[in-house]
Amino acid sequence: MSQNLLLGPTCQSCGAALLDKLDFGTNAAGAIVTDYCKFCFAKGEFVDPDITLEEMIKKSAAAMAKKKGGNAGKAEAMAERVLPGLDRWKAKH
Ligand SMILES: [Zn+2]
Repeated sequence: MSQNLLLGPTCQSCGAALLDKLDFGTNAAGAIVTDYCKFCFAKGEFVDPDITLEEMIKKSAAAMAKKKGGNAGKAEAMAERVLPGLDRWKAKH
């Protein structure tokens, strides 16, 4: 059962929806990877390798609230629900 059926691919680090191939991250060879967005993963490495899940939740919530013009508390609650289940964080919790 695919949990991405309705949402399409999402970044497995920050939870952002990957709607355009320009949003995807890249591997060391510069080819796109479908698991992460370009803000999290570029040229085969995490852009911010030391960021913690808590920091990523805040960052992702702020970006989400800004993009959708929504309320930051609500965006943070959503990020707190989604991010711990993503591949980058799952193993650590
Ligand atoms: Zn991302």
